[in-house]
Amino acid sequence: MREIFANWALLPEGWARDVVLTLDGAAIASVAAGPAPADATRVQALIPGMANLHSHAFQRGMAGLAETRGASADSFWTWREVMYRFALALNPEQMQAIAELAYIEMLEAGFTRVGEFHYLHHAPDGSSYADPAEMSLRILAAAQATGLHLTHLPVFYAHSDFGGAAPAPGQRRFLHSPDAFLRLLDTLDARMTRPLDRLGFAPHSLRAATEDEISTLLTARPNGPVHVHVAEQMREVEDCLKAHGQRPVERLLATLPVDARWCLIHATHLTEAERRDVAASGAVAGLCPVTEANLGDGLFPAPEFLSEGGAFGIGTDSNVRIALAEELQVLEYGQRLTRRQRNLLAGGPGSTGGALFRGALAGGAQALAAPPARIAAGAPADLVALHDETGPAPDGDLWLDRWLFGRGVAVETVWCGGVECVSGGRHRDRDRVVAGFRRAVEAIQA
Ligand code: ZN
Repeated sequence: MREIFANWALLPEGWARDVVLTLDGAAIASVAAGPAPADATRVQALIPGMANLHSHAFQRGMAGLAETRGASADSFWTWREVMYRFALALNPEQMQAIAELAYIEMLEAGFTRVGEFHYLHHAPDGSSYADPAEMSLRILAAAQATGLHLTHLPVFYAHSDFGGAAPAPGQRRFLHSPDAFLRLLDTLDARMTRPLDRLGFAPHSLRAATEDEISTLLTARPNGPVHVHVAEQMREVEDCLKAHGQRPVERLLATLPVDARWCLIHATHLTEAERRDVAASGAVAGLCPVTEANLGDGLFPAPEFLSEGGAFGIGTDSNVRIALAEELQVLEYGQRLTRRQRNLLAGGPGSTGGALFRGALAGGAQALAAPPARIAAGAPADLVALHDETGPAPDGDLWLDRWLFGRGVAVETVWCGGVECVSGGRHRDRDRVVAGFRRAVEAIQA
């Protein structure tokens, strides 16, 4: 049994001082107050690991490569062209190498689980690999190699636009029939062997999957998380109105049984009625503030949604940057910039960092069907130690406020499933993984 002594620990009932944890394998065996045992690992502040509820790992390979302006105005849609060109070039080994770097960066940021929204299924010409699950198995291998918990979300993708439009050539690696997709999920049921990993699925969007197809999948897979991109862009809202006379979130809620197993990724563009209905559905809003800012998506109505009891979590999505603290910071700052007020997401008197962190912790675990993220006996030992290099060490929620909005507080150590993956802010395999990543992107760009 290993012991950790924390000056401060964020327990389910609140911050506690001088806490001793014992770890037994992948789980926390006990949590008690007391003096530091002689051979305990000492940390300043211990918090639960966070779920990163939305990632496209391969896009880490193009981070920073779409920031040059072209001849015409750039938008999400011109970015998507760059992304498709990159997606069409990757082979399975390169996919795994890029995912490994994304995953060690997630661990270093304080994430201990990723929801991988995985749509790059087939060979570059669109044909199946000899093993149709090849690309999913690369994601599983990357998670296993880096020690990150995985909620794998294979994506169902069949169309280029609303109303079942035929797919575009650039989408050929993403496509399945419902039957072939369900066979992929059956294969993965058998091949996901780590006990804390989870399998769900993700209809890509209402553009890429019809409501009938999604209903078929829901009937065949009655359990596990369901994620969908929705209302990220105004053009998507306008196209949905043209095709169906309804907005995307309105249509999703009207035609499908959206409940607490669902995670609505982005849900940026909402009417007041849609916002209230999403909050009441129990579904998690999967917010990706850094990517949404990078792509010029728009701003989620977070203060109203939270006051209506809506659940949210955060995702690094395009992985243009992988930074837990920045995701929560940008979520708050977007609201401050447009409303010219401060501390909008604190939800009442109290710490904004504390409210944001606790909200994203609960919503992220729900969205990824993970055990509740808490420092308590019996919970998985998914732990993040924060270090204050400037001191004096802050108190309670000040740890979170300074980590998210200030300076000096950083991730020091991360245990994922009881394994110390990150020490001194660095993942144990960083050098090997960076070398593999460099070889992969040099070959793709050659
Ligand atoms: Zn996405």
